[in-house]
Amino acid sequence: MCGIIGYTGTEPAGPILLNALHRLEYRGYDSAGIAVQAADGGLVVQKTSGKLNALRTKLGNGTPLGIAGIGHTRWATHGGPTDFNAHPHSDCHGNVTIVHNGIVENYAELKQQLQAKGHVFTSQTDSECISHLVEDLLAEEYSLEDAVAHTASLLEGANAVVTISSRDPGKVVAFRLGHAGGIVVGYGDDGMFVASDLPALISHTRNVAYLSGGEAVAITGDSATFSDLRGGPILKSPTVVPYDAGSALKGEYEHFMLKEINEQAETLVSTMRGRVSFEKQTVEIEDFPFTQQQIESLERVVLVGMGTSLHAAMVGRHWIESIARLPAEFDNASEFRYRDPIIDERTLVVSVGQSGETADTLGAMEAAALKNAPQITICNHEGSQAVRVADGMLHMRAGLEISVAGSKTFTCSLAALYLLSLYLAKRRGTIDDDRMAEAVREFAHLPDMVGHILERQQDMKALAEKYASYDNFLYLGRGLNFPLAMEGALKLKEISYVHAEGYQAGEMKHGPISLVDENMPVVALMPRDDLRGKMLNNISEVKARKGKVIAIATEGDSEAAQIADDVIYLPETSPTLNPILAAIPLQLLAYHIAVCQGRQVDQPRNLAKTVTVE
Ligand code: GLU
Repeated sequence: MCGIIGYTGTEPAGPILLNALHRLEYRGYDSAGIAVQAADGGLVVQKTSGKLNALRTKLGNGTPLGIAGIGHTRWATHGGPTDFNAHPHSDCHGNVTIVHNGIVENYAELKQQLQAKGHVFTSQTDSECISHLVEDLLAEEYSLEDAVAHTASLLEGANAVVTISSRDPGKVVAFRLGHAGGIVVGYGDDGMFVASDLPALISHTRNVAYLSGGEAVAITGDSATFSDLRGGPILKSPTVVPYDAGSALKGEYEHFMLKEINEQAETLVSTMRGRVSFEKQTVEIEDFPFTQQQIESLERVVLVGMGTSLHAAMVGRHWIESIARLPAEFDNASEFRYRDPIIDERTLVVSVGQSGETADTLGAMEAAALKNAPQITICNHEGSQAVRVADGMLHMRAGLEISVAGSKTFTCSLAALYLLSLYLAKRRGTIDDDRMAEAVREFAHLPDMVGHILERQQDMKALAEKYASYDNFLYLGRGLNFPLAMEGALKLKEISYVHAEGYQAGEMKHGPISLVDENMPVVALMPRDDLRGKMLNNISEVKARKGKVIAIATEGDSEAAQIADDVIYLPETSPTLNPILAAIPLQLLAYHIAVCQGRQVDQPRNLAKTVTVE
């Protein structure tokens, strides 16, 4: 979730870039850098590890002025936070320089090919291969726009990139692939901007346009030319960001919830940063508060939370058992705290809660502390009470979530729980190197898959319109997907006020099936896993009673399409990670049904974001 800025115009570029980076620093802050272009095209790159202030100190009074430039605040994924790894990254001769947000999944392969051609790399980042690829294409007489577009087509993963080249003074070219951080284009009076987020440019202009995945833009001092990645022109006109602060923060989205749902490809990368080592193909948790001996002596794990966080904890239970091979259970924090639970110093208590201030979760944690249970909290607020009570924290790093109904904090909690399971497995010796490497590869691919789901969100809107008039919904899942059924139902009821229940599909015959008739839509989670066959049976039972079935299945599952009324397809991933993907269509379905019902999506009645009372 780094910050990216590009500017070209009549004002001195250097100070504009630094000012914009200051406004983007919340997005990443382990290194900062700028590249400034002089009128003759020459590029000066200044970068350093540390916060933006370190860069300011390094520049002293010598901030280059320039006619154009690009800047970056980094949050490392590949290669530690060192001066060399800071962005911008240049080609072999300093003629092309780029800033990058995301993960180039095939960087190792690209780097090897480029090195074989004689390119010299100066960093360990995945990003640097981008500038060398552009360099090669410019040497073949491609235009800068074509070289950048062609480079984009060689990259795998969700990525956003901004480039300048000494050959084209005053031109800045950017592209976006998938749902890696956004790119917003700003039309100022004194120049044009590209940035990862509105705060970077709102003090200069409120006229903006947004890039979608698969789009590129070339800006000069007074123009923006949009194209797809094959060079085909795209027509876009700027829209005006309204003046109230809330609308400015919402950017292109009608509600914060929709914005937050759309941020998930990026926030998942944030949760992984510094914890998943793509080079060593393993998982590391810095400052993990327990010794090897304490970890080995664990006999059990208890996960607690409330609402959406409880549903994350329920998924975490499965992962801890299946990956770390530790007996695990979950509990609603408001129940756990009052039933004198049997826990001791060999029970790891994992609490999940976005705010870290939920009264019941804190109560459960205090009950656990009285029994000397070691505790980890997974939360999104560093200074919260939960962090003070627990021995250690695994920050969700979802960024600010404003909508009351949690979306990105749910998927980030899941990612954090998955990391915790892998880490415990590693420390307890229940996972071998091959399986760990496989898990890391799958994890790296996740943001891109989330991006693919988000690209098809119009389908979810159409589906919501079709089902918005029903008064009751059932959500069914098995195994890892039962908690998702609970979460899907919760999302729907909390923001649309439509009655919905989540059940283990196996429970249907024990009562709930009597509710099924032609007025009962049933959302069935049936990814391609060991329980899919059982889910198919459950769906047939619903169909036999005239229920309407919306299946959430894996791409290519034609049987799902035959049996269900509607199917939402998810990209193929390991069944273990499917819950993270399945969360997204469930959120979108609830969101669009709530919009159809005219609800106040971001502030549903009777609810609060942080529940600090019992
Ligand atoms: N993967 C790139 C790196 O590690 C980009 C990181 C970012 O988005 O800040 O440098």
